[in-house]
Amino acid sequence: MPKTRSNWILRKSPSLPETVYRGRFAPSPTGPLHFGSLIAAVGSYLEAEYHHGTWLVRMEDLDAPRCTVEAADDILRTLEAFGLHWDEEVIYQSQRTAAYEEALRQLQAIGAVYPCACTRKEIADSALHGIDGQIYPGTCRNGIPAGREGRAWRVRTDDQPIEFDDALQGHISQHLENEIGDFVVKRADGLFAYQLAVVVDDALQNITHVVRGADLLASTPRQIYLQQLLGFATPAYMHLPIVVNERVEKLSKQTLAAPVGTRNPSAALWRALSFLRQEPPAELANGDLPALWQWALANWRAENLAGVKTLVCLPSVMADEFT
Ligand SMILES: [Zn+2]
Repeated sequence: MPKTRSNWILRKSPSLPETVYRGRFAPSPTGPLHFGSLIAAVGSYLEAEYHHGTWLVRMEDLDAPRCTVEAADDILRTLEAFGLHWDEEVIYQSQRTAAYEEALRQLQAIGAVYPCACTRKEIADSALHGIDGQIYPGTCRNGIPAGREGRAWRVRTDDQPIEFDDALQGHISQHLENEIGDFVVKRADGLFAYQLAVVVDDALQNITHVVRGADLLASTPRQIYLQQLLGFATPAYMHLPIVVNERVEKLSKQTLAAPVGTRNPSAALWRALSFLRQEPPAELANGDLPALWQWALANWRAENLAGVKTLVCLPSVMADEFT
């Protein structure tokens, strides 16, 4: 068993006092739930249940008009059809602007952020490519050029490494200044960036354990940095493998990932559990949903996924079986 998982295992020990576990599933409602999101939902749900914890759902719907109320409702109906019952009220990021404004004010008050006047094109023309997009060249770090106006707010990064132990992906260390650069917390179009919103909401919802796709692994150090600046606790992280197609592209609307249908949730859940390397018995593939959940809850072993970042799923398989 990987060493990094020990702090999660400990929570099951009966000799220790009951520790609070609060997890969440946080989809972006840009369309119906697809197989990749189902994997994240099932993984985060099973981890929360395994720890007798609370499982919350949060809609990361800041990016209007890509996110719609219809898609959010559709995702919630799909979760229900799968027996993925969440605790507490669903939070919608689109309704939480005041909290993000307050966090930005705090960052401004400690001088952790600065206004940036650069256009997308100016940054593209002068930036180096980092591990997660372009590295901002620092043009506005010491003040906006004369005659220009601040459009976005950026966090000033430094060369101190941000380190954490991911429950599946092991030890992660990142130098934000060199590898990422000063990153945006409020965009030029007035929208708050994902990095700030997720940190504020994880703190508001008292999330202790974040279980999500490995596509967000590289952004975790930015979130930890913001947590430190804002005085928030850092939750434990577990990054599940993401589902990719045979060209190793993440499943998304762009790669035409088929929505997960609700006609036969047992078959889709069985497939999700197989992808999560849980080896569900074949006879449960088309059986009743409660029996499959019972098996999944009794047999959940997250450590089967240790070190796995991607899992290939053929689109034809999904189209045939789930819709
Ligand atoms: Zn700038």
